[in-house]
Amino acid sequence: MTISNPSRLADEPILALIVDRDQDTRQMYAEYLKLGHWLVEEASDGREALAKAITRRPDVIVTETHLPGIDGITLCGLLRRDVATSAIPVVFVTGDAHSADIERATAAGGDLVLTKPCLPEHLLEELRRVLDHAASLRAYSSAVQTDARRKLAHADEVLSRSVDTVYRRHTLKKAHHRGDTTNPPQTPPTLVCPSCDRPLTYRRSHIGGVSSKHPEQWDYFECESGCGTFQYRARTRKLRKVA
Ligand SMILES: [Zn+2]
Repeated sequence: MTISNPSRLADEPILALIVDRDQDTRQMYAEYLKLGHWLVEEASDGREALAKAITRRPDVIVTETHLPGIDGITLCGLLRRDVATSAIPVVFVTGDAHSADIERATAAGGDLVLTKPCLPEHLLEELRRVLDHAASLRAYSSAVQTDARRKLAHADEVLSRSVDTVYRRHTLKKAHHRGDTTNPPQTPPTLVCPSCDRPLTYRRSHIGGVSSKHPEQWDYFECESGCGTFQYRARTRKLRKVA
């Protein structure tokens, strides 16, 4: 459901399009609606009505079923198929009191079918009711849209959060790449040879451990004096000779 005329402000007068081949009928309804501060457009046949419905975007269309050219039921069907006019309420005021015609008018998408003679005050009353219903439908529709938008926003948030988690997990996994490196997460300490007290030369680190949360870093040093290779475990802070 779309707003029939989004360009018209809520406090602006209601625009009705009255479609009837009979000028007196149009005038009778037009004058009465104008007394109620409505704006009225008139059309004497289906084609003119279709053109005015598209260009003027009335708030409501009142039409006879029997019209020259395009009849009222066909007109209603055409309006319903066009996104620009599909939400405009259509009220039939017909000289046909046969139930078959009323059914056809309703099936074509008519909001209401009134039969002639229909007094202008009765028409106005019914138009108000139809517009009120259409407005509540629109309000419902926008409420649904707001709710849908809120749900979408929430879904986006959940999605971005899980993407973030997956991404972080992924980067942690990468950071926890096991193996040898000369660029370990923890800076290797400055150590001296336990045998000769000379500074040890850092060679490489080995990253191990059960998980990224429990990494193990083993730093390997060499004594330039030939005392051997030493392993320093960051977790236990212990140095031992390994070769
Ligand atoms: Zn040494």
